[in-house]
Amino acid sequence: MEMLRDREARETIKKIVSGRILFDELMSCHASMGVGGKVDLLVFPENVEELTGLVSHFAKNSIPFLPVGNCTNLIVRDGGFRGALISLKGLQKVEVKGGGKETVLIYAEAGVSLSQIVDLSIRESLSGVEFCAGIPGSVGGGVKMNAGAYGRELKDVIKSVSLFNGEGEVKEIPGEALPFEYRNLGIPEGTTITGTTLYLSRGRKEEIQKRVSEILEVRKGKHPLDHRNAGSVFKNLPGYSAGQIIDELGIKGTRVGDAQVSEKHGNFIVNLGNAKASDVISLIEIVRQRVMGERGIALDTEVKIVGEDEDA
Ligand SMILES: Cc1cc2nc3c(=O)[nH]c(=O)nc-3n(C[C@H](O)[C@H](O)[C@H](O)COP(=O)(O)OP(=O)(O)OC[C@H]3O[C@@H](n4cnc5c(N)ncnc54)[C@H](O)[C@@H]3O)c2cc1C
Repeated sequence: MEMLRDREARETIKKIVSGRILFDELMSCHASMGVGGKVDLLVFPENVEELTGLVSHFAKNSIPFLPVGNCTNLIVRDGGFRGALISLKGLQKVEVKGGGKETVLIYAEAGVSLSQIVDLSIRESLSGVEFCAGIPGSVGGGVKMNAGAYGRELKDVIKSVSLFNGEGEVKEIPGEALPFEYRNLGIPEGTTITGTTLYLSRGRKEEIQKRVSEILEVRKGKHPLDHRNAGSVFKNLPGYSAGQIIDELGIKGTRVGDAQVSEKHGNFIVNLGNAKASDVISLIEIVRQRVMGERGIALDTEVKIVGEDEDA
């Protein structure tokens, strides 16, 4: 995109952000699936001020941008993304905001990893986020995706979410006022989650640690963690597990290039080595068509697919 290519435009970005600024960066190096073309800009603001400065700059100049976290639920097509991906990984503050006899409020900036939150909860004997054990995302990505597992989801422990829409100040919105749904928080495009306040319950360290270890053990047994992947590809439907349907239809093991429907878990697509985003996306289409043809069920993807095809 022209607006991010000329020297002056690049200098402007450097004035706003002190963190890493990568131009023409291959997303296959950053996404957990190991696929994805070049983004015009991948930029890592170091704090909320840099982030809001950057978002305001992009909004004012109509430069397309997308906030991202750890890219564990994201596929950028092989033709890349015209515009900027803003990684929130540099926003790393975590603080105890207060608490009472039974609950404690924790504020975490968007770039904090969910595993750090789980570690903190064990350290401080706080219960509520054990289910996040093994989910490799960030707080921001977790909130946007309303990440969940084992019958729990982030919205269950969210007191408020801090949002920036490109104008004015960051606003803290109470969790109950936000449109959380299964694997999504319905905020307008371009709205960036800068952090969240979680309420956790005081508990017993050994019990919390035990639950976390059990969950990690179950995940190791069920998930194909020896290959690159983006977690569950399809959303489950009420009463149906997408993985189970895929398994029943004998689709496991189906391949396009180096992308394969995992032999271990039907709802995972793994990169056997040199898969391209187009291989993964073609495979997703094959699975959807088989499930529609044989069961009449329309599977919706949980993974987010953005950007342009190679020949676009
Ligand atoms: C091995 C494995 C296991 C997984 N298990 C689970 C699981 O059990 N449950 C589950 O729910 N998910 C699971 N996932 C998927 C993924 O980890 C979660 O969806 C996670 O919450 C995504 O976080 P992220 O930081 O990687 O987000 P990204 O992949 O970077 O982004 C995902 C989406 O959120 C948006 N986004 C990211 N950050 C922000 C922000 N700050 N503000 C606004 N929008 C933002 C992006 O634009 C994108 O649309 C798994 C993934 C893997 C690889």
